[in-house]
Amino acid sequence: MTTSGPPHVALLATPGMGHLIPLVELARRVASRHGATATLLTFASTASATQRAVLASLPPTVSHRPLPPVDLSDLPRGAAIETLMHEECARSLPALEDILADLRRTTRLVAFVTDMFGVDSLDAARDAGVERRCLFMTVSLHSVSLILHLPELVLSVPGEFRDLEEPVRLPGCVPIPGADIISPLQDRSSPAYGSIVHIAARFRKNEADALLVNSFDAVEPDAAAVLRQTTPGRPPVFPIGPLILTAAKTSGANGTTPHQPRAACLEWLDRQPARSVIFVSFGSGGALPAEQMRELALGLELSGQRFLWVVRSPSDEGSLSENYYDAASKKDPFAYLPEGFVERTKDVGLVVPSWAPQTEVLGHDATGGFLTHCGWNSTLESLVHGVPMVAWPLFAEQRMNAVMLAEGVGAAIRLPEVKDREAIAVAVRELMVMAGEGKGAVVRAKVVELQKARQRDSVKVVPRQWH
Ligand code: UDP
Repeated sequence: MTTSGPPHVALLATPGMGHLIPLVELARRVASRHGATATLLTFASTASATQRAVLASLPPTVSHRPLPPVDLSDLPRGAAIETLMHEECARSLPALEDILADLRRTTRLVAFVTDMFGVDSLDAARDAGVERRCLFMTVSLHSVSLILHLPELVLSVPGEFRDLEEPVRLPGCVPIPGADIISPLQDRSSPAYGSIVHIAARFRKNEADALLVNSFDAVEPDAAAVLRQTTPGRPPVFPIGPLILTAAKTSGANGTTPHQPRAACLEWLDRQPARSVIFVSFGSGGALPAEQMRELALGLELSGQRFLWVVRSPSDEGSLSENYYDAASKKDPFAYLPEGFVERTKDVGLVVPSWAPQTEVLGHDATGGFLTHCGWNSTLESLVHGVPMVAWPLFAEQRMNAVMLAEGVGAAIRLPEVKDREAIAVAVRELMVMAGEGKGAVVRAKVVELQKARQRDSVKVVPRQWH
């Protein structure tokens, strides 16, 4: 290994914007605040236009190397995202090992970092002789706690989580009703369940030197206190967040290429009163069934509030994994909106297809609320910008995030299970009409408090012990 030159860190991001964005940000921080250089490794499937735009924003101190493509054609059509990510990672290990060996020859490679779905790549890093191996958890401390306790939960919960009469109680965490436990764990017979149980088992074996978590104390204080304690049988946990997209500008109506002119939706926001607009978006891959999309449109209209809505064609028109790997709407989403909706709401609302520059939208003065699927990056971005939320979780760990946000920290109003137009209009109005002491005012005050706490507690991303 080269012993001169700056320390070098290799980071591997598994597919999906929800992993790519925080790992890009971690690479940027490691380089800018710790004088290191870095290589960001991605899988061949990380190749959509929006993903390329994020990668194009890397500073010169961070190089990007895509792994060669692997054949996944034997997997069943419609395989779960967790299974796809797990398999792509497993089949890429030989190539990864070669790249890490090469980086060890040419740089002072001191650490390897990957996200939870890349856990099997820790073997390749160990075999390549990389000294420190870390997992960067792009989820909440509540989710980390669930993964750490999963080996015993699997034994103590006899049937399916959704059938539990009592909520799951984890130390320092808000009690989580069984039906809100992460979606891949809701069917014991599914391959996705097996993938998560496999990942959880590896956490226990101390194969990583540390779990770096993209969260911060103020948002999950009790969970942070519990997980900071040294515990035999698991790696130390360091909350190092919130790391959110800072430099990449994925602007443009479809967010397709970097260095585009300012997005039209930001220009539209410029013309709206302060804190008057609710931003509606379901992350990089979320889409609603056609009927639900219709109710949302009519609910927004009924609420009478200003809105900016990112739409994709309905989820019952394509598979979840298609959207997860490429955010672009598969069909014209406008064709699925109620007749006359765009025309009737044109004075108060803007609908954009597929993608909006979310961090810039959330940071805009006109944005006063966020109707979100509660993806963890979206949640952090909302909190950093002091924007209160309406929670409409869809899949993965989003229902757990919604419980924590609505019942734990109090930063969101959660929609009821039946999301008809009336329920949507009520929640949107509650959040946006902030006069008096209604729920909206309480939630907003809490979010502002969290925003301040986060500014006070801003942390370095490399654990102090490692300097
Ligand atoms: N995002 C964006 N514009 C969009 C949709 C998503 O910039 O129109 C970004 C968003 O800011 C966040 C990420 O994509 O950083 C989505 O991650 P999250 O964890 O919230 O959800 P996921 O996409 O993994 O479901």
